[in-house]
Amino acid sequence: MKMQEYIDEAEQALLHTYNRYQVVLEKGDGVYLYDMDGKKYLDFVSGIAVFALGYQNKEYNDALKAQIDKIIHTSNYYYNLPAIEAAKKLKEISGMDRVFFTNSGAEAIEGAIKAARKYAYLKDGTTDHEIIAMNHSFHGRTMGALSVTGNPHYREAFEPMIGNIRFADLNDFDSVLANVNEKTCAILLETVQGEGGLYPAKEDFLKKVRKLCDERDILLILDEIQCGMGRTGYMYAWQKFGIKPDIMTTAKALGCGVPVGAFLMTEKVGQHSLTAGDHGTTYGGNPLACAAICKVIELFEKEKVLDNVREVGAYLEEQLDKLVTEYEFIKTRRGVGLMQGLVCNKPVGEIINKALEKGVILINAGPNIIRFVPALVITRENVDEMIDILKQCLN
Ligand SMILES: *Cc1c(COP(=O)(O)O)cnc(C)c1O
Repeated sequence: MKMQEYIDEAEQALLHTYNRYQVVLEKGDGVYLYDMDGKKYLDFVSGIAVFALGYQNKEYNDALKAQIDKIIHTSNYYYNLPAIEAAKKLKEISGMDRVFFTNSGAEAIEGAIKAARKYAYLKDGTTDHEIIAMNHSFHGRTMGALSVTGNPHYREAFEPMIGNIRFADLNDFDSVLANVNEKTCAILLETVQGEGGLYPAKEDFLKKVRKLCDERDILLILDEIQCGMGRTGYMYAWQKFGIKPDIMTTAKALGCGVPVGAFLMTEKVGQHSLTAGDHGTTYGGNPLACAAICKVIELFEKEKVLDNVREVGAYLEEQLDKLVTEYEFIKTRRGVGLMQGLVCNKPVGEIINKALEKGVILINAGPNIIRFVPALVITRENVDEMIDILKQCLN
């Protein structure tokens, strides 16, 4: 069958929740992808900030194969070695104390919300606590995660939301203050907003929010699902700022393609929130997923991924900044490390389609922003290759 015939079949069978690019991707190699006709693409999306180590990393693949031959799944009612090891490693790289593994980012957010509500409930026995989230945020598509997602367009058809959510503006501390009251149990934000437009939280803002949370015993929840796992040049983006969240969510690159996430908390929150029977999952943190996490964390260190992000991230910034000066319709560049956006004053869909035609995979963040979230092992030469083709598409 031809590629177009497969695409037609897909449109007959899959629920139409995505306007997909007209390509069937079949295999990957390093930072390149191949469609089923054998056409090669330089990948600057990495499955949306997932495949940090690139495709076909031999050690990673071998670790998964070896785990498949031992055991893929057991229940969380029993202990398993990969989960123990993954939790230990995750504690080390994050500095957090307690880990709960999930299947996805959205599910990590659900857990974080439940932990925050329970923490507040244990303090005063009431159930009308509020959470402050940010405008333009994205936290996922399940009902709880959607409720804290600051994009009314995503929420509208699915009302009512979980309730007691207020929205403030990222980097506007006064707007946070204006929403705080004695019922506030948590303040939730992405350390760098991803889908919402590549807005990094500023150090000063984060520190003020942290202080406010300390003063009022409010939990600071940082969503590191997209910006975490090395993408900003730090394992977790908040580590740059000398602050620490009470609860943190992580996913996307955590398993580098195996569906897995986690929410983590400090010992204090761990001791005063979710207990036996409060929360669970069938698959979350199963041996296969946790074998992936273990190997990913090991390879991050071995391959000095953070150093590469800092170096190549700075280079990508430089090259994108040049485009800003060269093209009238590109307004600015925003982002940190290998999480960057080119903000245009017109829709970028056509540019992204052109790039795909010419063999570079890019994605948008909202209608007017081209987003760059490549594998974290990308090289300067890969950046040059991408910029070269992108320029052809911009002209
Ligand atoms: C992708 C994303 C999510 C949702 O993760 P899923 O695995 O798609 O459920 C939540 N928060 C942020 C910041 C994300 O980028």
